[in-house]
Amino acid sequence: MLAARRMASTLSAKAAPALSSVSASVSSPVPSASSPAASSPLALPVSATHGALTFELLARCSTTRARASLLTLPHGPVQLPVFMPVATQASLKGLTPAQLADTSCRLCLNNTYHLGLKPGQDVLDAAGGAHAFQGWQHNLLTDSGGFQMVSLLQLATITEEGVQFLSPHDGRPMLLTPEHSISLQNSIGSDIAMQLDDVLVTTSPDTARMQAAMERSVRWLDRCLAAHAIPERQNLFCIIQGGLDIELRRTCTREMLARDTPGIAIGGLSGGEAKADFCRVVAAVTELLPPLKPRYVMGIGYPEDLVVSTALGADMFDCVWPTRTARFGNAITRHGMLNIKHQRYADDFGPIEDGCGCQCCRPSPEDPQSGRPAITRAFVHHNASKETVAAHLLTMHNVWYQLDLMRSLREAILADRFPARVREFFAGLYPKGPADYPDWAVDALAGVGLNLRE
Ligand SMILES: [Zn+2]
Repeated sequence: MLAARRMASTLSAKAAPALSSVSASVSSPVPSASSPAASSPLALPVSATHGALTFELLARCSTTRARASLLTLPHGPVQLPVFMPVATQASLKGLTPAQLADTSCRLCLNNTYHLGLKPGQDVLDAAGGAHAFQGWQHNLLTDSGGFQMVSLLQLATITEEGVQFLSPHDGRPMLLTPEHSISLQNSIGSDIAMQLDDVLVTTSPDTARMQAAMERSVRWLDRCLAAHAIPERQNLFCIIQGGLDIELRRTCTREMLARDTPGIAIGGLSGGEAKADFCRVVAAVTELLPPLKPRYVMGIGYPEDLVVSTALGADMFDCVWPTRTARFGNAITRHGMLNIKHQRYADDFGPIEDGCGCQCCRPSPEDPQSGRPAITRAFVHHNASKETVAAHLLTMHNVWYQLDLMRSLREAILADRFPARVREFFAGLYPKGPADYPDWAVDALAGVGLNLRE
């Protein structure tokens, strides 16, 4: 159980920031952390090695803050910007590891809270970590476990020591400390581990509590860094908190940057705040971040959010939505969502989405000349309400859609035609034209020089 493995010896306060050594192989001058990303005179490509990762910045959009990079982690390279599917219980619901790899996914999430409960740390240690346990040869990122406790367990309370909660199995009081979260993530062996942070919903009106949570998250990062046993093969990312208060976010960013972690996450968003507020926070934080570290905006996955956040200078995203919505019969397409359960698809022998390269939409391998897809909408419709195969097929398609969207953004950044790709994306989603585009997206993109309504 979680509490049973708590490492009491690491509970003593270790206030000094554990500055990890930087073995930078920077081949060009690096702008200061405060210089706007779009205006710095960085000659590309340029790379830096830090902790257990190498980050190579390959291209930057000449209009927005979008970047294309190569992130090399212990289990291989990952092309950024990237969407990371969420395999909560060490499996992506509906896909085998081989099917997930076939979507070109090279980095997915596991959930520390769930794996800490079952199979538990002893089994993970005996298996040699989560990669071996789940048969996944590519990269893994784990959350700290704290967010799940606060969001899933009504009785979770947060003290300076950690997150207290009642075991969902037997109701016993338990405690997740920063040290225990790191110990669990060390056993999981993820390529990227996340610090335990004090997360509040962004819409909380309690400004004093929001500031306290931000400051506590900084103290907990110090405890996580002190407890981290395998920095040479696992990257620990900080998480910037501060709610929707831009000054709190800036203060937190400065504090976190001083701890010099290999990568940086922006946390606490996607919690019901207005999209305009979300964009304001992401833009304010990315403006302060150094160019040669990966930037991860946690918990977002709607295609529009991915496109806009990429334009604002973020590199990595995750969300359960694309795979969860597949289980409700929904296919994500460039023209929006289709619910394949609808009767209109009963005799539709086209692919889930025209032009999609996923295993379902590709030409039928049985009869490649026929023009028929491997899987038709009619077949998915037929199974959607009664057989799990429909959920598997839609999951395969949706994960492919998300990764392919990010691949297209990356290719556009590399060719310096990102603004045109963004226009094409919104035109596909809103066929009636720019008047239909959401104001929050138009405003956020205008803030980085891309006017969609021009
Ligand atoms: Zn498809």
